[in-house]
Amino acid sequence: MGLSSRHLVSNRLRALLVSTVALGLLAASGCASGDSSQASSSTDGGTTASTPAASSSAAPSSKPPSPAEVGANELGRIPILMYHRITPEPKSVYDRTPEEFRAELRRLAEENYVPITAADYAAGRIDTPAGTHPVVLTFDDASTSQFRLDSSGEPAANTAVAIMREVAAQHPGFRATASFYITTPPFGGNDVARSLRWLHEHGFELGNHTLDHPTLSSESPSEVRHQIAGLRRRITEAVPDAEVSTIALPHGVHPDREELARSGESEGVRYEHDAVLLVGARPAPAPFTRRFDPLNVPRIRSQGGSGESAKFGSTVWLDKLAANPAARYTSDGDPDVISYPSDSSRKPAKRYAERAESYRPRE
Ligand SMILES: [Zn+2]
Repeated sequence: MGLSSRHLVSNRLRALLVSTVALGLLAASGCASGDSSQASSSTDGGTTASTPAASSSAAPSSKPPSPAEVGANELGRIPILMYHRITPEPKSVYDRTPEEFRAELRRLAEENYVPITAADYAAGRIDTPAGTHPVVLTFDDASTSQFRLDSSGEPAANTAVAIMREVAAQHPGFRATASFYITTPPFGGNDVARSLRWLHEHGFELGNHTLDHPTLSSESPSEVRHQIAGLRRRITEAVPDAEVSTIALPHGVHPDREELARSGESEGVRYEHDAVLLVGARPAPAPFTRRFDPLNVPRIRSQGGSGESAKFGSTVWLDKLAANPAARYTSDGDPDVISYPSDSSRKPAKRYAERAESYRPRE
């Protein structure tokens, strides 16, 4: 009881902070560090009960656990899960039922995963508590099964957003946050501005999935720029302070000039992405490693353990990560330090070298 109510309060504080930041009331440099330290200190208390470290440590008010105690590995892999429709009647391998989605979120919560956005992943802003594992939940195509507001202004029952909030309320430490890759019309086309603002104000990322969802390799460079800049304009007209710093490629296909997905300009709108997301088919490298390639960030399709290409799906990959915890990203609880075991085969990228600290793993 105490834990969950405390967590609710800390979630509200965080939401308030995020919206304060969103309103631009704080200076840019101050809010970035203020937000992450506030978020990590406020969520630590609420989630230690479910972290592996806490079960073996003594006083709850003692120092944060050392990287060795929690087996921190901030060069490990991060699953970026890809969802399309959440529907009682799946029509393809891309659809999942509300029950399947709820069960997958519960599994993630029970295995100490904490959702972050793709924007935070790509920018290396990972503020999850010590001993937990970041996961990114992504939704393509902006369908009404993912999000719509009901007549009382709340997310409609059994939408992805409603289910995420329900699971977060039941699992202290699990966050209802995700990245939505928007195309037109967003969420059925009704009340678009209000819907996009609601998502932004509740900590969900608004990402780019182009205006008309074309296969970008079939389009001219100017049409590619128009498709991406045009969608960005649609988002920022509704939510002027939206960051729009990541894109998911329609059908996972790059334009012929791949860098056009990363940055460009059309009709006076400039776009610049920290990450370009693909469709398949493995966990993503930590953003702090040399393997991180902003033009090719892999995702994993949400899927059960059997059926078409299940070996590339989420159930099989989550099983593999659970069986091989050393390969997985485990947080040290300090967003400023990148901790990794000295026997790691991965090395930090140059631009993160100053923040990286290796430690001697326990036998
Ligand atoms: Zn799509």
